[in-house]
Amino acid sequence: MKKIAIFPGSFDPITTGHVDIVKRAIPLFDKIIIAIGINSQKQSLYTLEQRMEWIKRVFEDYKTVSIESYNGLTVNFCNEKNAKYILRGIRSASDFDYEKTIAHLNNAMFPDIETILILAKPELSSISSTIVREIIRGKGKVSKFVPKEIAKDLK
Ligand code: ADP
Repeated sequence: MKKIAIFPGSFDPITTGHVDIVKRAIPLFDKIIIAIGINSQKQSLYTLEQRMEWIKRVFEDYKTVSIESYNGLTVNFCNEKNAKYILRGIRSASDFDYEKTIAHLNNAMFPDIETILILAKPELSSISSTIVREIIRGKGKVSKFVPKEIAKDLK
């Protein structure tokens, strides 16, 4: 059976922190689906199409990584894709507390779905899409925080 992982998030926009987690997870799984959750409550800065296009560009050369979007619960999307693993990154104790709650709930609903948490590298642990959006709104330079393939679009 193929080991398929879903990496869910908003990716508004994708950052070097996200990319690092995916690249470190590549050897662990046969397939990783980066999945943009469509959240009607959360207004995004970039359109779904734009966010997907950037992720496609970044992972163009990585055959086992794909990008999709989904509505509703991540666990339902996992079942639809036959994915038994949810991949998440941990930057801080508050990330851990949050992820622990969600992972326990998901596991209570679907015991065969495991959440795999990967620790952010220390030098990347301050990077978040929220901070990147703030810098963009303030007309600052974000090239150090986003993958080089998309940096030119975010000037
Ligand atoms: P969400 O919208 O669910 O908060 P994000 O798009 O912000 O998701 O992030 C998706 C996943 O990537 C989350 O597990 C988040 O903790 C992780 N992540 C975000 N930034 C970093 C980073 N700098 N280093 C490691 N993991 C990160």
